[in-house]
Amino acid sequence: MVQEQLVARGIRDERVLAAMREVPRHCFVDDALHARAYGDFPLPIAAQQTISQPYIVALMTQALGLEDSARVLEIGSGSGYQAAVLSRLCASVYTIERIAELLTTARRVFDRLGYFNIITKLDDGTRGWDEHSPFDGIIVTAGGPQPPEPLIGQLAEGGTMVIPVGDQYVQELQVLSKVDGKVETKVLERVRFVDLIGEHGW
Ligand code: SAH
Repeated sequence: MVQEQLVARGIRDERVLAAMREVPRHCFVDDALHARAYGDFPLPIAAQQTISQPYIVALMTQALGLEDSARVLEIGSGSGYQAAVLSRLCASVYTIERIAELLTTARRVFDRLGYFNIITKLDDGTRGWDEHSPFDGIIVTAGGPQPPEPLIGQLAEGGTMVIPVGDQYVQELQVLSKVDGKVETKVLERVRFVDLIGEHGW
C-alpha cells in the first residue's frame, strides 16, 4: 500500500509514510472486508459512510504539515482510521462524529490499539470544539459547500486546515493557511466525499 499507492503518487513526507505503515487499516473495517483493507479504493463502513482511499488519507495528512507537538481537530471520525494515522504524528487528536454507532466502534478500536491521545465527541462538528481551540491543524473528512466559519476561527495562527469544498457530487481539496490573521487558500485535487451535514454544512 505505502510503496505502490503513496510513494508512487508522490507522497514524500517520511513521517506520514511511517504512520501509514504502522496503523493497521484492517482493524477499522468490517471483518468481511479485511482482505480488501489495503486496496487502492475507499471502503464502506456503517451508516452508509466510507473510509477514504489510503492515498487521500496520506495526501490530506501530508498537507497538514504536523509537528510532534501539534493539536489537531478532525471533523468526521467515521471508522477512526484517519484519526489513528494523525495520532501517530502529533500530540493529540480531537475528533467529532455525528453518528453514534460509528463513534462507538471507532472508540473501541482506539482502545484496543492503545491510541490514547485521541479524544472523541458526538456532535455536529461544523461548529468545531471551542473549549480546546485553537488547533494547529483542522481536517474535515466530509464535503461541504464552504469551509465552516467556526472552524476558521478555531484555527491557530500559522495553522492549516484541509477540507473538501464543492457540491454534493464533486469537491476540490482545499488547503487553508492562517498567516497574519488572514486566510490563504490553495487547491490540491478533485475528490469525492460524503456530505458534511450540519449547521455550517449541508
Ligand atoms: N475520517 C473517516 C472518514 C469518514 S466519512 C475515516 O477515516 O474513516 C465522513 C464522516 O463524516 C461520516 O462518518 C459522517 O457521519 C461524518 N460527518 C458528516 N457531517 C458531520 C458533522 N457535521 N459533524 C461530525 N461528523 C460529520
